[in-house]
Amino acid sequence: MPKLPEDVIRDEIRALAPYRIHDSSGLIKLDAMENPFELPDALSQEIGELVRAAAINRYPDPAASKLKAQLRETMQVPADSEIMLGNGSDELIQIVAMAVARRNAVLVGVEPSFAMFSMIACYAGLRYCPISLRRDFSLDDERVLAALTEHKPALTVIAYPNNPTGNLFEADALIRIVEAAPGLVLIDEAYHAFAGASLMPRLAEYPHLLVMRTLSKLGLAGLRLGYLTGTPTVIAQLDKLRLPYNVNVLTQIVAERVLRNIDVLMEQAAAIKRERRRLHGAMQRMPNLQVYPSAANFILLRSPRANAVFEGLKQRGVLIKNLNGVHRLLSGCLRVTVGTPPQNRAFMRALSECLQKS
Ligand SMILES: *Cc1c(COP(=O)(O)O)cnc(C)c1O
Repeated sequence: MPKLPEDVIRDEIRALAPYRIHDSSGLIKLDAMENPFELPDALSQEIGELVRAAAINRYPDPAASKLKAQLRETMQVPADSEIMLGNGSDELIQIVAMAVARRNAVLVGVEPSFAMFSMIACYAGLRYCPISLRRDFSLDDERVLAALTEHKPALTVIAYPNNPTGNLFEADALIRIVEAAPGLVLIDEAYHAFAGASLMPRLAEYPHLLVMRTLSKLGLAGLRLGYLTGTPTVIAQLDKLRLPYNVNVLTQIVAERVLRNIDVLMEQAAAIKRERRRLHGAMQRMPNLQVYPSAANFILLRSPRANAVFEGLKQRGVLIKNLNGVHRLLSGCLRVTVGTPPQNRAFMRALSECLQKS
């Protein structure tokens, strides 16, 4: 018998560090890749009406059929692919992981990448096998291909574009990996709206390929809605693991309404991309700062004084993400989400002060 009640918890769970979210009250929040823009008044009014009339005493449609149909149309999901919805794409990663988690099954990922991949491997009891990116954050396809041969992963997960590095891997290298992978391949396209590249049009060529996206980075982070697309027979199996009412009533009706006005979100994404270019150019002219190219709504930076810059920005009212020490390849790295023009100006002013103080 365990001595303390918590001892009954699996060892690997007790060994995990909790996923901490930094307190952002009173700060300009440029740490979590949220869309900083608001919806137009008329659309928010309409959403208010829909929410008021919503049947929150009833369970949601378990299949979320109307929302799925709207997503299929808006996001041009290929007609021969199926869609599964998640309470955020995090939930979808977890469902895929659970589905393949036979004893000794392996998840291959690249590092540095999105932290939830390794966390979820642990939750599901998969053996996590990370393959390092090259120093310039490009995909080391030779090493990934070798890992596929050696470990025969049940699941290979790659973010495209990658978080936190912001780059889009070379499509040919990615395809070589998809073609060689013995198990399922999950391509996480959370930043699709800012990237202009996708493997979704190629779903029909590869029955083991899954392409996942989210509405979080596009402007609906608070609703928690992710979608997974893939071969109907594979999605039908994965769907058995989805809890029956995982997408709530309010998310279903609000997301469907906003998707009908997708041009609003796409114009905001276009504004974010313009700001990304401006920010990138301005930061490249700053001393002692390395700025990486980005195909996402954030930019990775490297400074010899990363911790001091992070703290200095916070003192000046701007919260970004400190990645220094998170991974060998990320020493001195910081990640800033692209904000509104005034937020970005405030960030740039604070950043140049912090860099001059050395
Ligand atoms: C932000 C992010 C997600 C999480 O998306 P949710 O839909 O909000 O759960 C998934 N993958 C990557 C790579 C991300 O950066």
